[in-house]
Amino acid sequence: LKGIPEYRLARKSHRPEGSVICIGDTEIGGKELLMIAGPCAVETEEQLFAIAQKVSDLGIKFLRGGAYKPRTSPYKFQGLQEPGLKLLSNVSKEFNLNIVTEVMDISLLDVVYPHTDIIQIGARNMKNYHLLRALGETDKPILLKRGMDATIEEWLLAAEYILLGGNEQVILCERGIRTFDNSNRNTLDLAGVALVKQLTHLPVIVDPSQATGNRNLIEATSLASIAVGGDGLMIEVHNNPEDALSDGPQSMYLKQFERMLPSLQNMATASNRIIDLKTAIQPVQVQEIH
Ligand code: PEP
Ligand code: MN
Repeated sequence: LKGIPEYRLARKSHRPEGSVICIGDTEIGGKELLMIAGPCAVETEEQLFAIAQKVSDLGIKFLRGGAYKPRTSPYKFQGLQEPGLKLLSNVSKEFNLNIVTEVMDISLLDVVYPHTDIIQIGARNMKNYHLLRALGETDKPILLKRGMDATIEEWLLAAEYILLGGNEQVILCERGIRTFDNSNRNTLDLAGVALVKQLTHLPVIVDPSQATGNRNLIEATSLASIAVGGDGLMIEVHNNPEDALSDGPQSMYLKQFERMLPSLQNMATASNRIIDLKTAIQPVQVQEIH
């Protein structure tokens, strides 16, 4: 609407058919929806293994978990750091899961690199242009969160920094923005997701956990995210959310997460998409109406 946008590599006309990013046998941005689940932070071996076991039993192939946590308060848990990365590598081998974990600073890129399959760039770092340039030179997919104060154009220009370096594997992630209303932790910009799907060829996923801050809003917002054309979801789950060291109130109980999956699968089907899970949790058949 405003002439040719400045993000030339990220814009839709650069690849009108859409970008598909392959990790193992998962095609991100294709018909299948990317499902990522796991704790906000890696806390202990017991915690991570319990969660990974469940995630893997459900047939989910991507486990999230921060080893380095960007916390608003320096007095709060900052993540297990290097021991956390080792635990991620261990569960990845044990359960054959792909790992998604955050790189908080350019100095940590080489440290985190061997332990992750997707490099998460947090909302607070979306405008760290020096870091974005360095990511352009890596060969791993980047999950680029939208900054909590970022316009869509700023977000796509941030992606452009990575693309410009030659790394074409950028997955955008809407995680809610700050608005006048703090009834929810953030305001999930679902219209923004639909718009970005029109503006860019890059896959766009949604993180309803940071967006709402409330585990009882994850199902509704996940369904809506699929309906507006999102290419996947990243959802925080915990084996014991009451004792979580970060983001407990928004972390779903493992059972609650499992119970939600069939309705997400039904929404995926209605949207001509697929959520590929173990056969044990196939969607409830929608009755045919004649
Ligand atoms: C997270 O995923 O736990 C996180 C810190 O996200 P964000 O950068 O979106 O706040
Ligand atoms: Mn979190």
